[in-house]
Amino acid sequence: MIRLPSYAKVNLGLEVLGVREDGYHELRTLFQTISLHDDVSLTLRRAPGVTVACAHPAVPNDASNLAAKAALVLARHAGRRDGVAITIEKRIPVAGGLGGGSSNAATVLLGLDRLWKLKLGIDGLHPLARQIGADVPFFLYGGTALGLARGDEIYPLRRQVRGTVVVVDPRRPVSTAAVFRRIDARLTPRENSNTIFRFVSRDLEADAGFPALTNDLESAALEEAPELRDAVVKIRGILVREGAKLAVLSGSGSTYFGLFDDPRRARTAGAALRVAGFTAHHCRALSHDQYRKALRIRPGLQRG
Ligand code: ATP
Repeated sequence: MIRLPSYAKVNLGLEVLGVREDGYHELRTLFQTISLHDDVSLTLRRAPGVTVACAHPAVPNDASNLAAKAALVLARHAGRRDGVAITIEKRIPVAGGLGGGSSNAATVLLGLDRLWKLKLGIDGLHPLARQIGADVPFFLYGGTALGLARGDEIYPLRRQVRGTVVVVDPRRPVSTAAVFRRIDARLTPRENSNTIFRFVSRDLEADAGFPALTNDLESAALEEAPELRDAVVKIRGILVREGAKLAVLSGSGSTYFGLFDDPRRARTAGAALRVAGFTAHHCRALSHDQYRKALRIRPGLQRG
């Protein structure tokens, strides 16, 4: 049996560049893992089959659960006939743009690679992660990383973003597919945009580029859930007033977050958000090294 943390991500920036020939979107995003996490337990069974148990009412307990999918994909790949029981203690808001399902899937891949002694490592698991979902490969690396193509081509950055993150959950799940449908309806290619590249190559060093980062999905998410508009104005107002150097929607929402240098100001922001009636989680940016250690990923097995 093994019990592992399964961390959430935020997108520090997200650009939609266009629709690819395969129908997926060409993205450029800056991923960041945060300390908010689920717990995933894996128990090996002699009898074949994968079971999954999660008490959260919005999370399926069948083969459509991304954690179960990950176990099935890996078992097929490795020719394993024995089974595995997965339990998930869910803390990451579901359908909130924090990648909870994708993270659970990657954690299962990493955990079973270890339990089954497959020694596939990140390189070996990457193609399997891709089959499960576009956000899954990032969770094999964690930390601060650039995501290109469908968001599944991952480049961990040498300079990792530090800071305290206040995550605000407006408790209104938003469907990622619905947000992308809205994007498609009005997409004009933005090939000339290079905010994220500029940020990665230069501004991260000086810490100056954060205000330039944006999320192209934000306006479409707010069209999808117009009742969130007022909430977002309030949340953003509090985060910026308290000194967040970045305050944006994560992924397709509806979770909003602020990144702070000063943990005390982050606490003040969290308290103000709670007074205003929001659910706010106080956490910290988790670097690639911290992520690797928490998930017990061996450095030798990893792409540079
Ligand atoms: P995405 O942008 O990939 O949709 P998200 O963070 O917005 O990610 P998730 O919390 O991953 O959303 O959940 C998205 C959907 O996936 C939910 O509707 C949920 O029913 C389903 N799902 C399947 N497996 C899981 C899992 N292990 N944890 C959470 N949700 C899961």
